[in-house]
Amino acid sequence: MSAKGEAEVLLSIGSNMGDRQANLAFAEERLESCPQISDLKKASIYETEPVGYTDQADFLNTCVSFKTTLSPDELLDLTSGIENDCKRVRTIRWGPRTLDIDIIFYGDEKIDTPRLTIPHPRWQERAFVIVPAKELKDLDVPVPEGSEVRLFRKRI
Ligand code: ATP
Ligand code: CA
Ligand code: CA
Repeated sequence: MSAKGEAEVLLSIGSNMGDRQANLAFAEERLESCPQISDLKKASIYETEPVGYTDQADFLNTCVSFKTTLSPDELLDLTSGIENDCKRVRTIRWGPRTLDIDIIFYGDEKIDTPRLTIPHPRWQERAFVIVPAKELKDLDVPVPEGSEVRLFRKRI
């Protein structure tokens, strides 16, 4: 947390249903229009094969970073609201979704509550998180092998 009470946040955003690019843009616009969020930066968009539950369409994934005065819980409320407004319906775990927004980092805070674990517990296993995240933040971790992450739209 900086002197101004701002934290540097990194989010992972994914979509594999409907107009995937429009869904990512919807999420980014909603974040950008939030008065408690500033300096939003967008990584390139990547197309990735599903992991976990594999019988579903390919995802578009990206990451964004920004500064915020929202607390971690307020940020989760905001991102969950954006998911719901994108008509996300929760069915199968790790199944198809119009929009998924995960909080990967909130400054260097470690949080473990029933609704929030930060850093996100599975980020180091996920090439679709690490590849775009490395465009925005120095991360000293290898890109996991075995899953293809194809550049879809270069933005950085
Ligand atoms: P995964 O977490 O493995 O990527 P998922 O994104 O499909 O799976 P969801 O169904 O979107 O999982 O989320 C389940 C719950 O995870 C949310 O309701 C939220 O309370 C909780 N959660 C815990 N930590 C985080 C985090 N860092 N970012 C977002 N949600 C989180
Ligand atoms: Ca997720
Ligand atoms: Ca999620």
